[in-house]
Amino acid sequence: MSLSLGTVGLYSQNSKIPSSVKNVEAKVDSVLNLMTLEEKVGQMIQYNGSWDLTGPASETGNKQKEDRLKKGLVGSMLNVLSVEATEKAQRLNMENSRIKIPLIFGYDVIHGYKTIFPVPLGETASWDMEAAEESARIAALESVAEGVNWTFSPMIDISRDARWGRIMEGSGEDPYLTSRIAVAKVKGYQGDDLSDPRTIAATAKHFAGYGLAEGGKDYNAVNIGKNELHNVVLPPFKAAADAGVATFMNSFNTIDGIPATGSASLQRDILKGAWDWTGFMVSDWGSIAEMIPHGFATDKVHAAEIAVKAGSDMDMEGGAYEAGLEKLVAEGKVDETLIDDAVRRILRVKFKMGLFEDPYKYNDAELLASVPYEDHKATARDIAKKSIVLLKNENDLLPIKSSVKKIAVIGPLANDKDTPIGNWRAQGEANSAVSVLEGLKNTVDTSTEITYSKGVTLGQGERSFLMPLNINKDDRSGISEAVENAKSAELVIMVLGEDAFQSGEGRSQANIGLAGLQKELLKEIYKVNKNIALVLINGRPMEITWSAENIPAIVEAWQLGSESGNAIADVLRGKYNPSGKLPVSFPRAVGQEPLYYNRKNTGRPSSAEHVTYSHYTDITNGALYPFGFGLSYTDFEYAKPVISSNELKTGEEITLSVKLTNSGDTAGKEVVQLYLRDMVASTTRPIKELKGFELVQLEPGESKEVEFTIDENMLKFYSASEKWEAENGEFEIMVGGNSEDVQSVNFNFSK
Ligand code: BGC
Repeated sequence: MSLSLGTVGLYSQNSKIPSSVKNVEAKVDSVLNLMTLEEKVGQMIQYNGSWDLTGPASETGNKQKEDRLKKGLVGSMLNVLSVEATEKAQRLNMENSRIKIPLIFGYDVIHGYKTIFPVPLGETASWDMEAAEESARIAALESVAEGVNWTFSPMIDISRDARWGRIMEGSGEDPYLTSRIAVAKVKGYQGDDLSDPRTIAATAKHFAGYGLAEGGKDYNAVNIGKNELHNVVLPPFKAAADAGVATFMNSFNTIDGIPATGSASLQRDILKGAWDWTGFMVSDWGSIAEMIPHGFATDKVHAAEIAVKAGSDMDMEGGAYEAGLEKLVAEGKVDETLIDDAVRRILRVKFKMGLFEDPYKYNDAELLASVPYEDHKATARDIAKKSIVLLKNENDLLPIKSSVKKIAVIGPLANDKDTPIGNWRAQGEANSAVSVLEGLKNTVDTSTEITYSKGVTLGQGERSFLMPLNINKDDRSGISEAVENAKSAELVIMVLGEDAFQSGEGRSQANIGLAGLQKELLKEIYKVNKNIALVLINGRPMEITWSAENIPAIVEAWQLGSESGNAIADVLRGKYNPSGKLPVSFPRAVGQEPLYYNRKNTGRPSSAEHVTYSHYTDITNGALYPFGFGLSYTDFEYAKPVISSNELKTGEEITLSVKLTNSGDTAGKEVVQLYLRDMVASTTRPIKELKGFELVQLEPGESKEVEFTIDENMLKFYSASEKWEAENGEFEIMVGGNSEDVQSVNFNFSK
């Protein structure tokens, strides 16, 4: 229930802010002026709330935390997951504390709250920014309805290593595409006005470098220099900051020897200095105290000193600020102005969220009752089908012909209703997704017979956060029945991939092929029936070289969320013509990782394909499926691109246009991609970088002229002079349907 009137009265009565103070900064200062050091430090502390906040205090076993809430010595809580619990925590705080500063409630709403959308890597494959914004808007609405008003999303860490378990949680290997997603997500979560009760505050995370962990091992050291940091890692964060993201989260990793959480250069100099960003920085879970095992701080007090000086404003459940900040100020080791700066940032966000007017605005029963969950399902299906990537389709095996009357659906994930929900599932219920088998049965007419065999199981036993998954490597008992089913079918749909808990936090893998007995099952089926469409459900690029060489059709279906099976069936049946493109390169062998298209040349170019850089001698080099790749049921033809001028000058614009024709007989959508190369520069530059894209829908036979504008801004990079600037010289501009299939034109730039 919303208690706005009462609390405004309560608040203004106690806060002593004259009603004439309207401007947020003035309000922030007037509250800050009332606060004791203890209360200020309290704002910088975030508690985990997964104890029973709905029970009486004596039964909670968390008396100490509750006491601090009552004294107003907690700034935020995370994982408080019901209207009743957030209401109770807010009341403990608002009704007992001296200054009455509302709490904010954070949670990992990563790809939906109750309605689950594709995992971020999958959704990015849609290249559809409206979809990315819409799923965030829906997630925000479902979250606020249950009291959550701050999400720890979007994760915009560039990742080039399929071994890293959290690759599923980001947007892949490209800084430009990830930047576009960052902006769409911030807009979706935060809307135009954070005080709108249907919006939530967003978090750009993890600042910075977390996705480039050495060897793809989660939490591992990141060893990159300024060039890579500014040109590859930071652009999406800059885009999120410019889009007004309310908060940032720092990261567990060290970067060039300094823990990101303790890096003043990242947080103070770049983010809050050069970028002039005014929100607040929350630490990652305990990442301040983690500077102790990193060997960077002696104890929690020392860690607190380093973190606050570096610009970490809020300590997520780490206990370091609680243990250290007051003491450090008293001893003169930390200047109170640093504390004031952090608190000012936190208060600013709370004011912008409208919480001082109504701290209970999110606990609104009416809003909760009016959330259109059924409509959200339809949107989830729509976004899921747009996220599917068709990797291979020999002899037009797909879409399924209406003449096919017997289909065998086989595999451990074929009727799995849980894995498509993915990791970081918020309040998405376990086993609540539509499975592929169910989706097919929903869409196939009754004259078609569908048989199902699981064949083998994938994961066994308990699956939970951070626990390694136990993969079945021995139980072959279901294989012969699956083979029998396949023998008598006209078409086999095999659904293989990864369990939801094979990717995610702490779930890096040294092997990225089909785990357990899946490949064996696939080969056994292939011996008896070669008409196989392989549907992959997974959270990372997989090593599927054998399948790519042998299986006629392959569909990349990620972990697509609540409506997964319906969306997959829409594509298999041809009700939706697949339009997704890969946001990550698929390797031929895991040993190629890290693998990414926007690589640099070496000094050893060779004329042979794929060996223009250091290469392996025992495999075919290059990606199995490159960045930007994805097929359609129709064909698209690109005419020769035309550039309006071969000379570009500061302050001017030139255009590159290309005529795209749908030369097939099905309507379809193509993602036209624009890449750029700076031929010679003050630092070496990648052989190509994505700089633009456009989604083009065409009827059979239809053509469209697609035009991109090129200006100085597009040419800028972090140069040897440590400036974001364009340099004079020759550029190659490329356009095409994926990062390897492009046509190019050159032009010259001068200032
Ligand atoms: C993750 C963050 C997440 C936080 C809170 C950490 O372990 O790295 O991404 O937001 O937990 O759940």
